[in-house]
Amino acid sequence: MQIFPLEGEARGPGGHCLVAWDKVASPKEVGGLGIPNLHLLNLALRCRWAWLQKQDTSRPWSEFDLQIPRQARVIFEAAACFTLGNGERACFWSDRWLFGARVDEIAPNLVKVVPPRWRKARTVKDGLSGAWLLDCGPDLGDASVEEFFTLWHVLATVQLSPGVDDVLTWRWTKDGAYSAKSAYNAFFAGSTRAPVAEQIWRSRAPYSGKFFAWLASRDRCWTGDRLERRGLPRPAACPLCDQQQESIRHLLVGCVVAREVWAWTLRHWAKPMWVPTHDTELLRGGLRCWLRQKASVTSGQPSFWSSGVSGGTGMTWSLTPLPLPW
Ligand SMILES: [Zn+2]
Repeated sequence: MQIFPLEGEARGPGGHCLVAWDKVASPKEVGGLGIPNLHLLNLALRCRWAWLQKQDTSRPWSEFDLQIPRQARVIFEAAACFTLGNGERACFWSDRWLFGARVDEIAPNLVKVVPPRWRKARTVKDGLSGAWLLDCGPDLGDASVEEFFTLWHVLATVQLSPGVDDVLTWRWTKDGAYSAKSAYNAFFAGSTRAPVAEQIWRSRAPYSGKFFAWLASRDRCWTGDRLERRGLPRPAACPLCDQQQESIRHLLVGCVVAREVWAWTLRHWAKPMWVPTHDTELLRGGLRCWLRQKASVTSGQPSFWSSGVSGGTGMTWSLTPLPLPW
């Protein structure tokens, strides 16, 4: 059974990969191995240039027009937020300063008619002094006119504080300072979380066991069914029982040999009736979830959870190799 993402090759076609590299190079919480994605890490670090340019204007290159990739710029614009003081640092058209929003989030069509040089250079102080009216120009479409008056009313409530500097904060960290980790993690915001990731990687099982559990949870082990789909040589039936086709589900919960292991183990917990069936969702929900369900439907036996199997100090779980047959 092959348990390495690539078949020992530095490069390989898709058919040789157990798991796509984009999946491997993603955080463990979303089902990856936690290997940094260098492309996304580079973009996260490029955000730092945009951050320093706004945060530390004493740097000699702060006046330069830095070429920052669009993806990095989007992350910066989403995370960096100004708290207004005198309005001399925040950019009127492009920075996030208007009660936690940017002007183009309130008036997207209006911002499009503003010349690019003013989108980058107009400060909030100058804008609120009336310069934003000149930037827009007189030729506005119907949508822009409506947004113009909406923005007018919002700006009427803004008050500057002369003598107080604008404060730039990074909204995704507790201390308000930029961190590459928060920028990198933002690329995976909205990804589906892997339900068994925490059980796999926080257990005290040997790393090889965790790695196998990770592959099994993704159904990426070279079992008979997977070999058949790829047109590769495969055993005619499960080598253990010689009764059914080999699959990861069969090996873990369906095979008579696996069920013997389950029965032997659960007998020691005095729960022989808990032997999982072939349709038990061990791979999707994890062993712990399955045991919780069992405990919740087993009335009159609360001592199971307080006896140390999973409750109490949790030591039993932390010492039990992850899914028992693995
Ligand atoms: Zn079998």
